[in-house]
Amino acid sequence: SHAPTVMLATGVEMPALGLGVYLVRDPAVCETSVETALRAGYRLVDTAAMYGNERAVGRGLKASGVPREDVFLTTKVWVTDFGYERTKASIAASLERLDSGWIDLMLLHQPVRDVLGSWRAMEEAVDAGTLRAIGISNFTVADTRRLLEHARIRPVLNQVELHPYFHQGALTPFLDEQGIVTQSWYPLGHGSKDLFQERVLVDAAAAHGRSVAQVILRWHVQRGLATIPKSTDPEHIVANLDVFDFSLTETEMAAIEALDKGRPMFRPPRWLLAVG
Ligand code: NAD
Repeated sequence: SHAPTVMLATGVEMPALGLGVYLVRDPAVCETSVETALRAGYRLVDTAAMYGNERAVGRGLKASGVPREDVFLTTKVWVTDFGYERTKASIAASLERLDSGWIDLMLLHQPVRDVLGSWRAMEEAVDAGTLRAIGISNFTVADTRRLLEHARIRPVLNQVELHPYFHQGALTPFLDEQGIVTQSWYPLGHGSKDLFQERVLVDAAAAHGRSVAQVILRWHVQRGLATIPKSTDPEHIVANLDVFDFSLTETEMAAIEALDKGRPMFRPPRWLLAVG
């Protein structure tokens, strides 16, 4: 069965849970994972130019036999392609590599350099119909406000690090107010052993007859977040989608809320901060 959808500001429905393919560098593994996920009922795949696997994603989509119009494809413009001209070329290159007609959602990967020049190229691609929606990733409240002041077409979504150890504080209420969907990356804390051993998660998993990963993903969707867990293990791929037929109790939700450490797990490398 499929994931329920969340409504984007454009009126388009986007699956609340999809497959992430970050660090899936082997093209054969990437293609098979995408095919497995789509056959299991996934209807969203999250890639990026920076991941180097857009061609494999496009091949996996075709191999699955699922009609293109039933699948939501997200990809991202990397920071070295920011600025109007480079972003225009980057969008064309992603379209060519994915070889899937249009792109459902294109994100600016990081809030660096010439965001406004890039955004104008993104808006023109929406006008041309090659991008169906545009959004942002790793934008703070201040970054998002700055873009909103100048955007002709508003971002529909902000993809940010979010998991039981890091809830993003005031960002998600702000995005809710603005009608921008929050999508969690590192939803499983990047597979953190500490997180998977947290008492409250282990207890909730036992209580519901589920795995810890399923409890964490249930927490995301029950909070109203969209998310994109990654796995290349067929059993985990299938299990990660199977979180829509049980609910965590208010007590369990509150106990998971209490795990927030208030700081991200991912530390941006120095060079990335430098291009800001
Ligand atoms: P994740 O939190 O999804 O964790 C993935 C890891 O968790 C796997 O490698 C595996 O070790 C483990 N895992 C997955 N399913 C499991 C299961 N059922 N049981 C036990 N262990 C399981 O971390 P991620 O892959 O880094 O992030 C998810 C996706 O988010 C990425 O693939 C990518 O699409 C996106 N992302 C975006 C950004 C960004 O800057 N926009 C950054 C990082 C990731």
